[in-house]
Amino acid sequence: TSQIAARVQRIKESPSTAAAERVRQLRSQGRHILSLTVGEPDFDTPEHIKQAAIRAAADGETKYTSVNGTPALRTAILDRVERHTGVAYDVNQLTVGVGGKQVIFMALMATLDTGDEVVIPAPYWVSYPDMVLANDGTPVIVDTREDDGFKLTPASLRAALTPRTRWIILNTPSNPTGAVYTADELRALAAVLDDFPRVMVLTDEIYDEIYYGDGKVISLVEAAPGLRERVFLVNGVSKTYAMTGWRIGYGLGPSFLVKAINTLISQITSCPASISQAAAAAALSGDQSFVPKTVAVYKERRDLVVAGINAVPGLSAVKPDGAFYAYVNCSGLIGRTTPKGVRLDDDEAVALFLLDEAGVAVVHGAAYGLSPYFRISFATDKATISQALAAIDAAVRTLV
Ligand code: PLP
Repeated sequence: TSQIAARVQRIKESPSTAAAERVRQLRSQGRHILSLTVGEPDFDTPEHIKQAAIRAAADGETKYTSVNGTPALRTAILDRVERHTGVAYDVNQLTVGVGGKQVIFMALMATLDTGDEVVIPAPYWVSYPDMVLANDGTPVIVDTREDDGFKLTPASLRAALTPRTRWIILNTPSNPTGAVYTADELRALAAVLDDFPRVMVLTDEIYDEIYYGDGKVISLVEAAPGLRERVFLVNGVSKTYAMTGWRIGYGLGPSFLVKAINTLISQITSCPASISQAAAAAALSGDQSFVPKTVAVYKERRDLVVAGINAVPGLSAVKPDGAFYAYVNCSGLIGRTTPKGVRLDDDEAVALFLLDEAGVAVVHGAAYGLSPYFRISFATDKATISQALAAIDAAVRTLV
């Protein structure tokens, strides 16, 4: 209605939240639904992290902290980032938020004026375009190709840049494709930006520890040191340490930007929860064995998903290198007809068909800006994944 601001009327509820709601509805009607829609680890937060939070509460760490966190958390973040990227940041280049999500939102709020453009490669994390719209910016969506590994190419980046471009958003490893940029690919993109000195890069590396390749995920700040003054690096503890509910994320970048973000945060949340900060500090600086252990489990599930999908006629999936999602190509099902006589016109119809006929919930590709695909999350147990793959296979074989 007219009492709601235009910038809010432009945005919508997250499609993953909507999909989860549909699953809840069907389950309440007694349907057995296998859900492959979740965007969070199915593991519990490690015990030593919980204990750090309990200790913080018992010791009276129950008050407001600095806008950019407790000294312990700040040190833990700066050490972790230097350990992982080789780049030493200063404390005035650090901001801490209620999840990486708040940090990204604040960076856009701090920098966008009406009509400023933000280049977002598709498929994208569903929140980026809506966050841009909510801050009066204009998302400029650039399609990537499966043949390019769903990665932005230097040529398509160059074609998307205009005098109004303020940001490019990169996400490596990617939600929803699991694509990971190599150091050379990052350098090639950075080279394009030499000609556009006003453009900044927001690099969302929240899945950087969930990686199935050799070595590690290379951060943009490591690959392209010359760009550092224009890079805002976002990360957090949600995915790596199964801490989605604790809500701690962080951003590192030029001090002028961090200062503006911290001013906003001082007026919005003051600081993240002090108890969560203690937990996040313990996560980042304590025993790291949880990480390789869970990544090994995700990797087994990934191989199960990719093999299972590629065995279904009409579906195919490239192996994701990171995160816990597979982006499944369903072009082979478009135009086919279900036993009930429904023609599958697009990936939303495919997702509905899988929900109705296979009892499997996935999120359709249009939600991520690139069709015809759907996203499977393998942040769920192997039994559920196996049953879901069998059910998808059986349902697809009924199509004519
Ligand atoms: N970035 C990406 C690509 C994500 O998938 C998510 C969570 O789904 C986030 C950022 C934000 O995570 P959080 O706010 O829990 O740190």
